[in-house]
Amino acid sequence: MTQAEKLLALHTKYAEYNTCELKNTATQAVFGSGNPSAEIVFIGEAPGKKEDETGVPFVGAAGKFLDEMLSRANLKREDIYITNIVKYRPEGNRDPTPEEIAACESWLHEEISTIKPKVIVTLGRYSLNHFIPDVKISEVHGKAFRRNIQGLGEYVFFALYHPAAALYNGSMRETLIEDFLKVPKLVKQTKKDS
Ligand code: URA
Repeated sequence: MTQAEKLLALHTKYAEYNTCELKNTATQAVFGSGNPSAEIVFIGEAPGKKEDETGVPFVGAAGKFLDEMLSRANLKREDIYITNIVKYRPEGNRDPTPEEIAACESWLHEEISTIKPKVIVTLGRYSLNHFIPDVKISEVHGKAFRRNIQGLGEYVFFALYHPAAALYNGSMRETLIEDFLKVPKLVKQTKKDS
């Protein structure tokens, strides 16, 4: 099986058997998308309205901002892989509950283990604290951590503010762009270290 086939089989399996309650209200599961062998995996929070309608992650306003930052960093969507900790839209775009996050956890972890990226970029505090619970995003954004995650193994994580939170906040927007531009160098360094 190719990497793309493995990921499709994984998404199809989890979409069928997942017990997340959000399944009852969402239009569809939003699978991760992008390069199945990517060196960088971006992980957001949960799909929004546009993502729920299209089945593709980060296609709304936050996604457009993400595309702009990717382009500034000389990256394309086809170079990276992007997914969410929760695969279904919470109604009214509320934050996901711990139960909803837990229901999608093995889906996310298997997704990461299939891709085996060099760097995992967390977008926002839900994604960051899912892997690294003991830190505050305001203190660690723009920083990298090597952590061994139970049931997943050792990965390098890099914390970013969520593009939706930074979109209309001038200073957070500048900080996010500045942090984002460190990603390609971190990938190079991680490859050198491994
Ligand atoms: N915000 C997210 O966290 N994920 C998406 O897919 C879209 C917006």
